Amino acid sequence: MKKFKFFYYKKMYTNNIYTPIQFENYSPKKQLSWPKELPPLSIYIHVPWCIKKCPYCDFNTYVNKQNNKIPERAYLDAIRSDLEQSLPLIWGRKIISIFIGGGTPNLLSSYAIDELLNILRKLLNPPSDIEITMEANPGTVESERFEDYAKSGINRFSLGIQSFNDKHLKKIGRLHNSDQCYSAIEIAQKSVDKINIDIMFALPEQNIKECLLDIKQAIKLGINHISAYQLSIEPNTIFFKKPPKVPNNDSSANMQDIIEMELAQNSFERYEVSSYAINGNKSVHNMNYWQFGDYLGLGPGAHGKISLNGKIIRQIRLHNPNLWIKNAIIGNGNHILEERIISVNELPFEFMLNALRLKNGVETSLFYKRTGLFLTKITNKLRKACKSNLLDNDPRYLKATQMGWRYLSNLQEIFL
Ligand code: SF4
Repeated sequence: MKKFKFFYYKKMYTNNIYTPIQFENYSPKKQLSWPKELPPLSIYIHVPWCIKKCPYCDFNTYVNKQNNKIPERAYLDAIRSDLEQSLPLIWGRKIISIFIGGGTPNLLSSYAIDELLNILRKLLNPPSDIEITMEANPGTVESERFEDYAKSGINRFSLGIQSFNDKHLKKIGRLHNSDQCYSAIEIAQKSVDKINIDIMFALPEQNIKECLLDIKQAIKLGINHISAYQLSIEPNTIFFKKPPKVPNNDSSANMQDIIEMELAQNSFERYEVSSYAINGNKSVHNMNYWQFGDYLGLGPGAHGKISLNGKIIRQIRLHNPNLWIKNAIIGNGNHILEERIISVNELPFEFMLNALRLKNGVETSLFYKRTGLFLTKITNKLRKACKSNLLDNDPRYLKATQMGWRYLSNLQEIFL
């Protein structure tokens, strides 16, 4: 049986001999056993507090009403307990990146971040040179704190700049102004080499010229990674109830084009739908998501995906910070809101949802490595995507065409 399985594996992936039409000729009756090599593993830590809820934000974030005092001690105890309870799922595995996201993680004191990283070091023993990113918002940036964060081991900051234009920052309800953006970037640059800034476009009453100015400003400041997102109006947000006047679809598409063009002219590579990097400064952590790697999510509302014993498990923690803290510390597993095995039928869509976001796609062999499934499982869908000119015909890669990337949700839907 093993030999038979290996035969298909080798034929399909090692020799790269198939095309989507040829997939049909190799349709084994049985599914492959799980690949021996587990996916790379990242750690995500969610810090759920913000000073104020932004009107467009649908993340799991909470305004701390107790005089803006974060319950740091209880939070750290809960993180430690959450991680200890999760260890059996990831025992002995190598960590490739850590991401502290939010919320506004830089509301935590430098002491808290130091202790947080020490907990991770003690329990996970990560390699000393891995990427450790921390999200931070301008306006709550103190230079000393940033240096201390870096001394504790943070080596990449991701700053929620959004725009350098005061008018637009106000329209989207941000607490910071452009001066604070510049100051935050300067402080971050003194502390670490790798910096991402988030820039939003298609903002209320924004025109193309203003959008371009934001991008030019980011380039001028020597940023090495930019995430450019279109403002989207999500349910359960203030903007959803009271929508602002945003640029129409054509203008938004033009903004997207001009951003890409400007960044390309300045040597930035658009390597993912919203991500641009210069000099190879891609985000290791996010690449692992898009390549359908594993990640353990700790903290309120954190999501995780872990491969274990031939299955892929999805976890979601309790959303409410106080409830999560209380239950995580008790240690009986009730801090997990949902834990389920991703079914074989769901896996192809989940894989494609992520992988097709990458400009260069992924090597075809990754489908098996990450899902344990033969590509024959999705032969018809691959054919349909190729026929529609949404998926590239090169059998070595699963990669969207130019058109597929433009109409990505149509392409992803094919695998639903
Ligand atoms: S600062 Fe970020 S996480 Fe916090 S409410 Fe605003 S958009 Fe959401």
